[in-house]
Amino acid sequence: MQECIFCKIAENKIPSVNIYDSGKSLAFMDIMPARKGHVLVIPRKHGEILSDISEEDLKDVILTVRKVTDAMFKSLCCDGINVHQCNRAAAGQVVNHVHFHLIPRSEGDNLNFGWPHEAYDKGEMENIAGKIRSSL
Ligand code: AMP
Ligand code: ZN
Repeated sequence: MQECIFCKIAENKIPSVNIYDSGKSLAFMDIMPARKGHVLVIPRKHGEILSDISEEDLKDVILTVRKVTDAMFKSLCCDGINVHQCNRAAAGQVVNHVHFHLIPRSEGDNLNFGWPHEAYDKGEMENIAGKIRSSL
């Protein structure tokens, strides 16, 4: 993936401030942080969305996410951490290489992760659940 900015970071072709390299995954600082200390974790191998990543690489990525969140809790005195991941543009994905955002939070910060709550019609939730189950 020649034009992928995160592939270039993984290949050391453009600069990044790295936190941890497992060999299969890389954690580095987000240059436009939602909060200071915002880290991104990527699989080194390119894939656009979760289903493009092998089980082996995905396991490594999530273990790296856990390792780095542990280090963030220890080092940043944050009250919480959001782990956020977007699949496709409609979900807010801008960089088309799978990545997890690790965003440190403090009580009373005004970062708004709130979303509205829709109401189901009678039977609708079971219906939708059935559709998802039948595609597993
Ligand atoms: P998303 O909207 O989920 O695709 O997030 C992409 C993230 O990548 C944003 O938070 C950007 O700030 C971040 N980003 C883009 N380019 C770079 C870069 N060269 N180094 C570090 N972070 C980057
Ligand atoms: Zn890539």
